[in-house]
Amino acid sequence: MLLLSGGTGSPKLLRGLLHFCPETQLTVIANTGDDIWVSGNLVCPDVDTVIYTIAGVSTDRWWGIKNDTFLTHEALVSRGHEEALVIGELDRATHIFRTDIVRQGATLTDATLLLCASFGVSSKVLPMTNDFVPTMLKTDEGEMHIQDFLIKHKQRPSVSQVNCGAGSMTREVEAALGEHDAVVIGPSNPISSIGPILRVNGMREALKERFVVAVSPIIQTEPVSGPARKFMEAARLPVSSVGVAEFYADFLDVLIVDNTDFDISRRDLPGDVEVLRASIIMLDRQHSEELAAEILQVVGQHC
Ligand code: GDP
Repeated sequence: MLLLSGGTGSPKLLRGLLHFCPETQLTVIANTGDDIWVSGNLVCPDVDTVIYTIAGVSTDRWWGIKNDTFLTHEALVSRGHEEALVIGELDRATHIFRTDIVRQGATLTDATLLLCASFGVSSKVLPMTNDFVPTMLKTDEGEMHIQDFLIKHKQRPSVSQVNCGAGSMTREVEAALGEHDAVVIGPSNPISSIGPILRVNGMREALKERFVVAVSPIIQTEPVSGPARKFMEAARLPVSSVGVAEFYADFLDVLIVDNTDFDISRRDLPGDVEVLRASIIMLDRQHSEELAAEILQVVGQHC
């Protein structure tokens, strides 16, 4: 099973897939457009959430490690040293571990695979690229890093453009694509979480050769959470599963939409995209497992 993942919606699906697929049979390509340097360390929020989810230590907010403490962050802030993210001690250890390895000359992929091993994770978690390609937004309050938009500015500014950098494909991502005939795209923000993965050189072309199933992150005209509305409007796409299908049109085979989206039919979707209905809100582990079971049936794969 090969999953493309952001940091909130897709990890919920991953939690369900893990019920059926042994860790060793799961490969996840994670967005690194959210990556940011904080207090001297490289933070890769989406990569880390995937690792923490597989290791069973993720919080139910889908960032950071459960039962973490924040003394370092609080001490820094009290001395006037602002941090772009609220980072716990255990989470910070991940960033120090990674940054140390990268500073010694290893790639981000090498560092991530070593991190997986250190957490006892036997799935392959691959950053989408080794290049640093932060997603930058053009807003009415100026150009800013996506993390500043999400946290410092609390998603308030109007967004006119979401600019994802074009990273190079790593040999590990290329090999993972070569090993899988089917790819699942989790219900993450299409523009800011999956969009950067699609900007990796050769990614859209590679996906055209594969059977691709995506879960919509939008129910009717409302994203389940986060700034997908602002980002899809900035990309001039309808805020609906139809807009998601348009964004993925050149490679998508099946889009899973919510049961309540009964208005959407194959005729509304571009090209040859097939529409399937399911219960796609994952409020708990059982919902995640039910959705994962449907997806595994669609891709005809039984882990
Ligand atoms: P980010 O890194 O936190 O922006 O993470 P993502 O991009 O993975 O997650 C945000 C997207 O996931 C939003 O567009 C949500 O609408 C979607 N999402 C979150 N939870 C769910 C869920 O339970 N079901 C579905 N279908 N989508 C979800």
